[in-house]
Amino acid sequence: LASRAFHPDDSIIDVSGVKVGGDNLALIAGPCSVESVDQVLEIAKAAKASGANMLRGGAFKPRTSPYSFQGLGLEGLDILCEAKAATGLPIVTELMSAEYLDVFNEKVDLIQIGARNMQNFDLLKQLGQVDRPILLKRGLNATYEEWLMSAEYIMASGNENVILCERGVRTFESYTRNTLDLQSIPVIQKLSHLPIIIDPSHAGGKWWLVEPMAKAAVAAGANGLMIEVHNNPEMALCDGSQSLKPAKYDALLKQVAEIAKVV
Ligand code: PEP
Ligand code: MN
Repeated sequence: LASRAFHPDDSIIDVSGVKVGGDNLALIAGPCSVESVDQVLEIAKAAKASGANMLRGGAFKPRTSPYSFQGLGLEGLDILCEAKAATGLPIVTELMSAEYLDVFNEKVDLIQIGARNMQNFDLLKQLGQVDRPILLKRGLNATYEEWLMSAEYIMASGNENVILCERGVRTFESYTRNTLDLQSIPVIQKLSHLPIIIDPSHAGGKWWLVEPMAKAAVAAGANGLMIEVHNNPEMALCDGSQSLKPAKYDALLKQVAEIAKVV
């Protein structure tokens, strides 16, 4: 179902009115984690003014350490809904457990499956029961084949609205958080009709790597960008070091718009 061989045209996925795929650019911005109403509203308004067309924010966080901030949970989801009501931006947030499938189906415009759950096959199968499109992040050490098979699980279970997201893979290099695989863009577009977007924030782990990698991704034909933006990165409860301040995000999107004109 995910293969280009049986579906030559690019799939266009509708995320509550925002089209993803083909010539459309998904511009998803927001904090790593939802921290407060004021935080999310401030970031959402700024991101929208810069041209973002979706708002991200983690309410349930897959943290390496059990002692790190785990997210606000359902309260965080309600904060995202408030920001959506204020800005009109569809919301993107990560689902970690099928326990919350119904509430996500009701409230979340684009359900994110994180890198760590890319091969949680039981969870993937359950996504066939939701009407919402799915953002499937690439696993930390997943091959293209494995990643596309995970998309296949979701599609075979009854939900064909899948968007893929490359977020860097684990290599021998430790200076950067992960290594961004830009080759995934043309490879996935050759093998599959599904849209592929790039998350340069989790790939590099450093805010100053986001701009060059985001520009390279759009130049290489990516169908969108998911970027962490925080109004006060030094105080962020998660991933501050890779988050752009709103002004930097604004400057980046102006450059991205220029690049998008020529690709
Ligand atoms: C995220 O986008 O907040 C996230 C946790 O990403 P990943 O699953 O790619 O690590
Ligand atoms: Mn993050």
